[in-house]
Amino acid sequence: MRNSSQVKSKPFSKSLWQLAAGLPIVLGVIWGSPVLAKNDPNTLTYGELFKEVDRGVVSKVELDPVTKIAKVTVMENNKLRIKEAVLLDDNAELYNKLNNKGVEFGVQKSADKNAIFGLLGNILLLVFVITVLSAVIRRSGNAGGQAMSFGKSRARFQMQAKTGVMFDDVAGIEEAKEELQEVVTFLQEPERFTSVGAKIPKGVLLVGSPGTGKTLMAKAIAGEAGVPFFSISGSEFVEMFVGVGASRVRDLFKKAKENAPCLVFIDEIDAVGRQRGVGMGGGNDEREQTLNQLLTEMDGFEGNNGVIVIAATNRADVLDAALLRPGRFDRQVQVDPPDYKGRLAILRIHIRDKKVDPELSLESVARRTTGFTGADLANLLNEAAIFAARRHKQAISISEIDDAIDRVIVGMEGKVVMDGKFKRMTAYHEIGHALLMTLIKEHEPVQKVTVLPRGQAVGITWSMPNEEHGLESRAKLLAMITVSLGGRAAEEVVFGKDEIDSGASNDIQRLTRIARGMVAQLGMSDLGLVAMDNEHQEYSEAIAAQIDREVRKIVKDCHQQAVDLLQEHRWLMDILAEMLIDRETIDGDEFRRIVDRETGRNEVIVSKQKPALAGS
Ligand code: ADP
Ligand code: ZN
Ligand code: MG
Repeated sequence: MRNSSQVKSKPFSKSLWQLAAGLPIVLGVIWGSPVLAKNDPNTLTYGELFKEVDRGVVSKVELDPVTKIAKVTVMENNKLRIKEAVLLDDNAELYNKLNNKGVEFGVQKSADKNAIFGLLGNILLLVFVITVLSAVIRRSGNAGGQAMSFGKSRARFQMQAKTGVMFDDVAGIEEAKEELQEVVTFLQEPERFTSVGAKIPKGVLLVGSPGTGKTLMAKAIAGEAGVPFFSISGSEFVEMFVGVGASRVRDLFKKAKENAPCLVFIDEIDAVGRQRGVGMGGGNDEREQTLNQLLTEMDGFEGNNGVIVIAATNRADVLDAALLRPGRFDRQVQVDPPDYKGRLAILRIHIRDKKVDPELSLESVARRTTGFTGADLANLLNEAAIFAARRHKQAISISEIDDAIDRVIVGMEGKVVMDGKFKRMTAYHEIGHALLMTLIKEHEPVQKVTVLPRGQAVGITWSMPNEEHGLESRAKLLAMITVSLGGRAAEEVVFGKDEIDSGASNDIQRLTRIARGMVAQLGMSDLGLVAMDNEHQEYSEAIAAQIDREVRKIVKDCHQQAVDLLQEHRWLMDILAEMLIDRETIDGDEFRRIVDRETGRNEVIVSKQKPALAGS
C-alpha cells in the first residue's frame, strides 16, 4: 500500500446535488404556468427563462413589479438580446435561482406607489425565501435528504413512480451492474424464481465511497425493472424525535408492500445501522428504535412479495451485524471508483446533453482524472459547460475543461489526485509488492493491484485470503516482511534512494510489527526462545537493544532480498508498471499470466472468487 499523509476525512458535501435533485420538481410545477404568445422569439415563458438561466446565457434580469414583465438580457448567437418574460405573482424560485447562478437582477424604478410596495414586498419575500431556503438546504445537507419538499414540513420518504434512469446511464461499475442485473429479473418476473421454490433475496447492500453512483445504480435497477422507487435516507432519522423514525420506517414498508413489486432504497444506512451500544450519545435511542423497526420489517415480509430493499453505505464495517444476517442485507455489492475505461464511459454519458468542441479528446480527460468518482466527473463537465457559457462559447473546449478540472479538484479537498510522476511512482511501488508476492512462493498470491486511491491509500495490492489460520511459518513471516518492503524497494531501484517518499509509512509499520513479533514473542531469532514483549514486564535496556538489533537484522536481510529480486526483474517491472499506469487495476490471474509468460516459469494459481483482506 502506498498511503498519503495529507488526507483529511471530510464528509463529502452533497447539498448542491440535493438542490439539483429538487429543481426538476419545482420546474415541473412552473412549466404549467400561463405564458406569453408562444413561439415569439422576443419573449420567454417562465419555464424558458428558467432553462436559459440554467444554461448560463442570461446575464441580467430587470423586472417591473407592476406589469410583472421582466426584461431579460440573453446571449444568443454571440449577441446580447433583450427579451421579455411574464413573471408570476410569487417569483421566489426565480429569485433564488438567479441568486444561485449569480445573475444580476433588479427592479425597474417606477413612480407608482404600488410598485414600491410591490418591490418592498418582493424584497421582503426574497429575504424570507432565501433564509428559509438556505435553512432547508443546510438541513438537507446535514440530513442527506434526497429532495426538497416545499410547503410540506418534512418529506416522509420519496416515491418515484418512474425513475427514468436506466443501466445505460450508469458506467464504470460493470461488476456491480452484472451482479445487480439479477435483481432486475427478480423484480420483473418473480414467478420465474418462486415457481421453482427459489427464495428471492430481500436486501442488497451497496458499498462504496460517496459519488461512485450507488443511488444512481439503485434508481437504474428500478428503472430497468419498471417498478416504483421508494427512498429514504438513514441520516434523517438521527435528528428526529424518538419514535418518529420507527414509525416512518413502518409507513415506508407499508406503502412499499401496497405498491409491490417495487424497490426500497435506504441511503446512508450506517447512520441508523451502526453497531448498537457504541458511538454517539444523544440520538442513540432514536437510532436504535429505528434500526430495530427496520430489522422487524425486513424479517416480517416474505421474501417473495416483490419488495426488494437496497441500502447504500460507504462503510460496511461499522454496520450492526444483525443487519447483515441471512434474510436481511445478506448480499453485498462493492461499488468501486472508476478506472480509466470507466471514467471514459462516464464522461461519454454526461457529455450526451452538452455541446463539445470536436477537437476535445475525452480520452485525455479520462487520463487526467484518476481518482475522480462518477459524481466528480459529472460535476467537471457541468463546470466546464458553465465556463463555456460565461465565455460566450458555442461548445466546451479544452480550456474550459482545464479550468473545470482545477475547480473540481479544489472541491475534492482531501482526496488525492494522481498525475504524472506521482502516478508512476505509485505504480512502481505497487508493482514492487505484487511482483514479490508472485515471485516468493511462501507468500499468498496476489489478488489485485490498483493505483486507484481508496481512503488513505493512493495504491493498494491485495493478496488472496489466507486459508490456513493460526500458525505461520518463519519462512512465511519473512516473506510477508519482504513483500511489505517491496514497495519502497521498487522506488529505490527505479527512482534512486533520493527520490523515495513517505508513501511507505504504513508498510514500514506493518513489517516492523511482524519482525518485532518474530524476535520478541515467537523466539524466531538468535535471541532464542524467550517471550519478552510483554507490556507489563520490564526488561533491561540491554535486552531492548538486543531486540532492536535482531529486528533490524531481519528487516535488513529482507530488504536486501527485495532489492535483489526487483533488480533482477527490472525489465518485468517496467512492463507491469506501464500496464498498471494505463489500466489502473490488474487482477491477480492476469498479473501471474504476464509474469509466467515473461519469465517462462509455469506456476498456475487460479484465484478464488471473493476478494480479500487488504495486504501490504
Ligand atoms: P452515491 O450515491 O454513490 O454517493 P450518486 O449516485 O448520488 O453517488 O452520484 C451522483 C451523481 O454523479 C449521479 O447522479 C450521476 O450524475 C453521477 N454519477 C456518479 N456515479 C456515476 C456512474 N457510475 N455513472 C454515471 N454517472 C455517475
Ligand atoms: Zn506499500
Ligand atoms: Mg447517494
